[in-house]
Amino acid sequence: MTAAPTTTDGVLVDRYGRVARDLRVSLTDKCNLRCTYCMPAEGLPWLAGPQLLDDDEIVRLIRVAVHRLGVTEVRFTGGEPLIRPGLARIVGAVAALEPRPRISLTTNGIGLDRLAPTLRAAGLDRVNVSLDTLDPARFAALTRRDRHADVLAGMAGAAAAGLAPVKLNAVLMRGVNDDEAPALLRFALAHGYELRFIEQMPLDAQHGWDRSTMVVADEILAALRAEFTLTADPGERGAAPAETWLVDGGPARVGVIASVTRPFCGDCDRTRLTADGQVRNCLFATEESDLRAALRAGADDEELARRWRAAMWGKRAGHGIDDPTFLQPARPMSAIGG
Ligand code: SAM
Ligand code: SF4
Repeated sequence: MTAAPTTTDGVLVDRYGRVARDLRVSLTDKCNLRCTYCMPAEGLPWLAGPQLLDDDEIVRLIRVAVHRLGVTEVRFTGGEPLIRPGLARIVGAVAALEPRPRISLTTNGIGLDRLAPTLRAAGLDRVNVSLDTLDPARFAALTRRDRHADVLAGMAGAAAAGLAPVKLNAVLMRGVNDDEAPALLRFALAHGYELRFIEQMPLDAQHGWDRSTMVVADEILAALRAEFTLTADPGERGAAPAETWLVDGGPARVGVIASVTRPFCGDCDRTRLTADGQVRNCLFATEESDLRAALRAGADDEELARRWRAAMWGKRAGHGIDDPTFLQPARPMSAIGG
């Protein structure tokens, strides 16, 4: 076991020796879709304006993470990050940090065709766009909004703006879109996008997740192998959540993020900041650490860094979804930042 951190330790290390270098920042808990596995039709009680970090507060906390805590990768998410008005300004400020972190964005893609050139110019490196189905009617049922064409346009716009490689995230749900794995891969290959399937996790606001019916990695891989040859990717996986395979000999790849059936907690290098300034050491953490209160009370950068380190030190060894004692976190994925 590693010794407890002191105020002069630089990095975000936990008691199991894992070092967090990848920061996920939620820019808003709001969204313009209502994916059934994520939030209810009526939406959620959104954070009120004063609860949200403003743009300068967000940039300050990211600066602390990069300058004092060894963060090298910043991923913006939400909710839907593209609906945050200051997004390009925030990206620009983060891209100006020294050393410059890699900057990416996870989005549902709506409006990305219009925003991609501005975000690219501001310093955004890459995007992950969520697409669960190729069928517009299914998309409308799954997201409760008729915006399929906007998402496809968003992906194309991202690729055209040089936000490469465009990665696609797909969640398969039993009886909804679980027959689409090969078709989604065909689509991704045809467009030069890199597809990753994500196992559905117990992070929905409605608590509708069911372990016994979820679509698992083995099933997704079997469906893909009916049409494609998948071979182990010789590349280093490192702390990446996706396990990847070469498709038909490569160089195209497909990935599966099997958080539930093949957990990768032992290699996790992530730390999270919510839109209201709470540090979370895990998606599944049941405790948060309030950096917004400290920041607004006048804490200096080193004090913020100290609190962040202390929050990460307490990270649990694993998410424990399969433990009988598992408790779903109080906040849903859309409020934590997926
Ligand atoms: N709105 C953006 C989007 O949809 O990409 C960013 C936030 S969303 C919470 C991030 C990713 O989490 C999406 O790819 C989404 O499909 C995925 N997601 C949401 N709820 C999930 C759940 N319960 N289990 C697994 N993935 C989930
Ligand atoms: Fe919105 Fe993303 Fe949740 Fe869908 S998964 S409702 S797009 S936050």
